[in-house]
Amino acid sequence: MLKAGIVGLPNVGKSTLFNALTRSRKAEAANYPFCTIDPNVGVVTVPDDRLEPLSKISKTSVTVPAAIEFVDIAGLVAGASKGEGLGNQFLANIREVDAVVQVVRCFEDPDVVHTMGGIDPVRDIEVITTELVLADLDAVAKRIEKAQKKARGGDKEGIAELALLEKLQPHLNAGKTANLLPATPEETALMKLFQLLTAKPVLFACNVAESDLATAEQNPFVRKVADYVAHHHDAAYVPISAKIEAELIDLPPDEAKAFLRDLGVEDSGVSSLIRATYDLLGLQTYFTAGEKEVRAWTIKKGWKAPQAAGVIHTDFERGFIKAEIVSYADLARLGSVAAAREAGKYRLEGKDYVFQEGDVALFRFNV
Ligand code: GDP
Repeated sequence: MLKAGIVGLPNVGKSTLFNALTRSRKAEAANYPFCTIDPNVGVVTVPDDRLEPLSKISKTSVTVPAAIEFVDIAGLVAGASKGEGLGNQFLANIREVDAVVQVVRCFEDPDVVHTMGGIDPVRDIEVITTELVLADLDAVAKRIEKAQKKARGGDKEGIAELALLEKLQPHLNAGKTANLLPATPEETALMKLFQLLTAKPVLFACNVAESDLATAEQNPFVRKVADYVAHHHDAAYVPISAKIEAELIDLPPDEAKAFLRDLGVEDSGVSSLIRATYDLLGLQTYFTAGEKEVRAWTIKKGWKAPQAAGVIHTDFERGFIKAEIVSYADLARLGSVAAAREAGKYRLEGKDYVFQEGDVALFRFNV
């Protein structure tokens, strides 16, 4: 399962958001820094309107939505790359995630201490980014030593690695993130091996005050983040109210709706955040649909059939023969498997087939 890590300075609302996302109270929200020492992991389902119609067609009541794992990563302070605060642990945890959700504080509240002084989301983003860039610089310096040895021996990979690392070093030294480096597709693929922190896509969750959610796009703090995002690759932002979502957890659905209506919004922003994370990760969905269950599976855009089959079971990837595919749109429009078959909408695809968003698949494989 793909992982997104929730990061941010202390007291910006990370734990509150994590609780809201996972609808649990595993992470402890408290008004003091460093209350979240161990990374907390929670599985969050991805809302998808297609599951319900598919379950009707398949005559099953069991639906399993796609899911993303969210990790609540302990607070970061300036100096983390030098081991300040929970620095080293923070950096190790962030290395393991596929995308970063950075919570930035856009709410004012004199009762909640801001560890950096006043509210300034772009300064906060830059504090964190600087630490990540510094950590990447360390990693690059170490890799350069290794690559030099390989390159000296005439190793082709070593030579290519060294060339890229030597481009990266001055780029990072100038304070720029790795995902801003102009790179060829080959270089981008190679860079993945370096596991750099600043090469990961970032979603900024702008945590606004409850009273500001309905008009969040006009909030001056959110505008500043929007402007920052416009000048960065692989970044997006979503306004949210962690506090509203936290308050919704204990309400029955009807009351929750009424509560949101009073605030002038449809949801707390958390559903948009989940979807935005999914898109930012370059993910797409395919389905398996049978009498037992209808299930959404998460794959990366561009994956071929055997790789897609592999998320169900590694045996499916190894023993892959063919995939029988119908698009969700065709199946939903025709209303039944029989009608879709009759209309010739089922196709047999081989191992070079690139999965499309919303494919409904049945795999044939050797065990
Ligand atoms: P973390 O240190 O980033 O994990 O922050 P927490 O989630 O523990 O939140 C720190 C404090 O800020 C807690 O007292 C929360 O109740 C409070 N808080 C979180 N989000 C909001 C918000 O949107 N508005 C206000 N006023 N307080 C919030």
